[in-house]
Amino acid sequence: MKPSTKKRIVLKIGSNTLTRETNHISRGKIEDIARQVASLKNEYEFIIVSSGAIAAAKQFVKLEGNGKEINVKQALASIGQLHLMRIYQENFRELGLYISQCLLSYSDFKSKTSKDNIVNTINILLQNDYVPIINENDTVATDEIKFGDNDKLAAMTAALLKADLLIIATNTYGIYTKKSMQNGTPETIREVMGFESLIKEVADGKSSHGTGGMKSKVDAIEIAVKSNIETWIVNGMEENFITKTVLGNIPYTKIITR
Ligand code: GLU
Repeated sequence: MKPSTKKRIVLKIGSNTLTRETNHISRGKIEDIARQVASLKNEYEFIIVSSGAIAAAKQFVKLEGNGKEINVKQALASIGQLHLMRIYQENFRELGLYISQCLLSYSDFKSKTSKDNIVNTINILLQNDYVPIINENDTVATDEIKFGDNDKLAAMTAALLKADLLIIATNTYGIYTKKSMQNGTPETIREVMGFESLIKEVADGKSSHGTGGMKSKVDAIEIAVKSNIETWIVNGMEENFITKTVLGNIPYTKIITR
């Protein structure tokens, strides 16, 4: 099949965005994502890296334990992943879009055979207009449950699949300058060239639902930018956040590579 001329975007959606910072998955947010993918599908190929499996289970299941133990979270992820994907599937189908599920872990990025398998599978899915939805395989790995909320997994995926752009949706208008955070008036770092210029200005931050905060974003940016992938940190809490970002209608942080 002829190689696609569309730009390839890896879009990372964390639990905070998907729950709209509540204690349940927001169907409205997934509908919002589906609508935007549908409206941009002629120009862009989307690979979505989505967490939210644990959050999806927690809203209707209570397992023994206090819900903070890693093994309990892994079990919750196993239950919630189905529920999460069902919501994605229903909303994407409404708009004539097809999705698929790929569960990956960091160790899959270490072997040439697994890497080739990932690339080949996802390329076939994209060629056939499927939107692959990736999450960490929480049964076999706990890296992103412990820390990261899939930020690093998204960056590794973007690097492996030679994405043109990595978009990380979060609950802030990009990354704020350290100075502005000290003043109490957050100011977005709009555009920087390369990773080193970014870390000079960056302020740390925390989020409530996911496990990453700003530190894991910065780690992810380092992986992506060093693989020459432009990276945007955008506010996923906004309705139409991708379109608004593309049009420059909301502040976001853009890390360009050359
Ligand atoms: N893979 C986990 C999930 O889908 C990530 C958990 C998180 O850090 O929010 O729930």
